[in-house]
Amino acid sequence: MTTSAYENRPETHDPLEDVARRLLVEIGEDPDRDGLKETPARFARWWREFSGYDAGEADTRFPLRTSGQIVMVSDIHVWSLCEHHLLPFSCVLTIAYKPHGDVLGLSKFARIAHRHAHRLQVQERLIQDVAEDVSAATGSPDVAVIGQGEHLCMSMRGIRTPALMTTSVFTGIFEEYGPARDELVATAFPRR
Ligand SMILES: [Zn+2]
Repeated sequence: MTTSAYENRPETHDPLEDVARRLLVEIGEDPDRDGLKETPARFARWWREFSGYDAGEADTRFPLRTSGQIVMVSDIHVWSLCEHHLLPFSCVLTIAYKPHGDVLGLSKFARIAHRHAHRLQVQERLIQDVAEDVSAATGSPDVAVIGQGEHLCMSMRGIRTPALMTTSVFTGIFEEYGPARDELVATAFPRR
């Protein structure tokens, strides 16, 4: 019965809509009932919006003499998709670097984070990718990224327990425990 509902589908000429109709049928739904009629088209739009997201230019630098300053941008919220379960995870990032002659425009950190979040990911790679991009965009070897993520594949399935996962990348001056690292951790995890 479920097979015929799929075979009787109207021609959409959109493979993503076909996938959505097939999915609805396989979980026992009628894709032609009111409420679901437009769902395959919405599904297709969402996947294209997610995978085709353009974060824009992310490497605008300004020459600026700084004396030992550390720049930190915290509370950057992004959504990504776990590549193991195709379920969303949210991640809050703190990004830090020590400028070496140039500073990066403030919005560029969020652009870099979104660029790497808008693809199938695991949190560890997301944080690594962001750190590498920030280092390339700033020309600084001193970069740190901390991410705290909540994964729906753990909260709503499997063990069904909400929890926060923290991952971090420390390079250059942030590698050793010291003032730079202390300041970063205090920024990423403020006492509330
Ligand atoms: Zn997962």
